[in-house]
Amino acid sequence: MCQHQPQCPAADCSDREAARTVAHHPEQGWSLLCNGVLLFDDTGELLPDGRIIAPHRPLDSGRITKAA
Ligand SMILES: [Zn+2]
Repeated sequence: MCQHQPQCPAADCSDREAARTVAHHPEQGWSLLCNGVLLFDDTGELLPDGRIIAPHRPLDSGRITKAA
């Protein structure tokens, strides 16, 4: 999936979030990384194999995300 050089971290690496963003949908609250990881604005993640990573960074409590 990734065609960058050097290659971005794979979805099963702990630094998977360092992969480049290939699609960003702030109005829907998620980004797609080039390793197939869906990264949500609350720092939760959906991995390509279906695993879900719970949000793991503190949120800016003043921020409100609206569903589009
Ligand atoms: Zn890449």
